[in-house]
Amino acid sequence: MRYSISSLVKQAFRGHSGWPEAFRHPEPAKHYDVVIVGGGGHGLATAYYLAKNHEITNVAVLERGWIGSGNVGRNTTIVRSNYLLNSEIPLLEWSLKLWEGLSEELNYNVMFSQRGVLDIFHTDGQRDEAVRRGNAMIVNGVDAVMLDRKQVLDMMPLVDENNGRYPVLGGLLQPRAGNARHDAVAWGYARAADRMGADIIQNCEVTGFCRGPNGEVTGVETNRGQISAGKVAVAVAGHTSQVMGMVGMKLPCESHTLQAFVSEAVKPCVNTVATFGVGHLYISQSDKGGLVFGGMVDGYNSYTQRGNLPIVEDVAEAMMMFMPALGRVRLLRHWAGVVDMTMDGSPFICKTPLENLYLNGGWNYTGFKAIPGAAWCFAHTVANGAPHKFNAPFHLDRFAEGRPVDATGGGPFPNHH
Ligand SMILES: Cc1cc2nc3c(=O)[nH]c(=O)nc-3n(C[C@H](O)[C@H](O)[C@H](O)COP(=O)(O)OP(=O)(O)OC[C@H]3O[C@@H](n4cnc5c(N)ncnc54)[C@H](O)[C@@H]3O)c2cc1C
Repeated sequence: MRYSISSLVKQAFRGHSGWPEAFRHPEPAKHYDVVIVGGGGHGLATAYYLAKNHEITNVAVLERGWIGSGNVGRNTTIVRSNYLLNSEIPLLEWSLKLWEGLSEELNYNVMFSQRGVLDIFHTDGQRDEAVRRGNAMIVNGVDAVMLDRKQVLDMMPLVDENNGRYPVLGGLLQPRAGNARHDAVAWGYARAADRMGADIIQNCEVTGFCRGPNGEVTGVETNRGQISAGKVAVAVAGHTSQVMGMVGMKLPCESHTLQAFVSEAVKPCVNTVATFGVGHLYISQSDKGGLVFGGMVDGYNSYTQRGNLPIVEDVAEAMMMFMPALGRVRLLRHWAGVVDMTMDGSPFICKTPLENLYLNGGWNYTGFKAIPGAAWCFAHTVANGAPHKFNAPFHLDRFAEGRPVDATGGGPFPNHH
């Protein structure tokens, strides 16, 4: 739809009424070829890629709350492919490439901003790790630049250059990385999937699975009745172990809350996404001016979507070490999402041992950036009953086989978001 200036002014004063709906609100049908459980970024994008790449359009996305209520609307929006392992980089780099064309593809502005992600290091050991990681990225065709201390301080003038305990030695920059507008991603994929025929059904909670005579999955039980399905694809992020528990599968992952923080709006002062190498802290600045930052997961398991005070203290302390000039900036709010932490820090994007059941989950704190690429691969896996080469390493058997994709063992930086 195109608007003239005068009609735009009219739109601005119409009191939030009369917007065309972005997607339909259908009642659930009795049967779908594919039922996707979870209307977060991964679930919605999977519906889109099933239709676009595989012509599978008789699809429902079942969301127990509303679109955007989960982690897709709660994260700090960092998008990057600055990974270390050969098994991780192709998937994340493919995802980054899809991000680069996403607004155009969905005809929806996801505000992807390639302002760079800068991992700052403070010890010789961290510099060695950064060099290794940068080399692994370059070998895999990913952009990576090593910055010296002066270049880091030129980019981030508010970082404490005289910190005696944690001096700035340099940084590893991925210039093509950056951030995006999180809920726009959910709405953009929802609208695009809806237009290609998928039913997006909100307030529809999956409470169990229907099984056939040989144990195969044949559909789902929901608070709005039973829905049969050729295939069921689970993408419920923080509730992965809970939902997979409904079919008796015990997964090597557990749920924690992860908090994020935003300050009052201040003038532009952070023009990249920066991570502090020695404390769990990362920071960027939103287009509105708020400083968006976060740290480590809360220390115990929870499904509460709100965080506890020890992490607030930890993050504020790290911020004071990193950028003391921000000490008088007021915190506007903080919130949490529920993340599914796996034992090796890597996700599951795979067919499960149960016939017709597929799983996308275990995203730890890093699944936002992966939405386009992982959902693209998940749709491929669901359509073909076999993985794409990019998601082949992320199967459930890897622990039993002794082949973890050990993202957590990759050095001091892998835990940032
Ligand atoms: C504070 C925070 C900061 C983060 N920062 C980053 C970052 O900077 N970069 C990054 O890459 N990642 C980040 N992440 C991680 C990222 O947000 C998640 O990995 C990713 O969003 C998870 O995938 P999703 O979008 O599909 O999840 P969600 O949006 O959580 O979608 C899952 C959906 O499943 C629904 N659901 C659950 N159970 C059921 C059921 N029984 N029936 C039906 N529906 C159900 C939920 O309601 C939910 O809407 C962060 C996460 C948090 C919490």
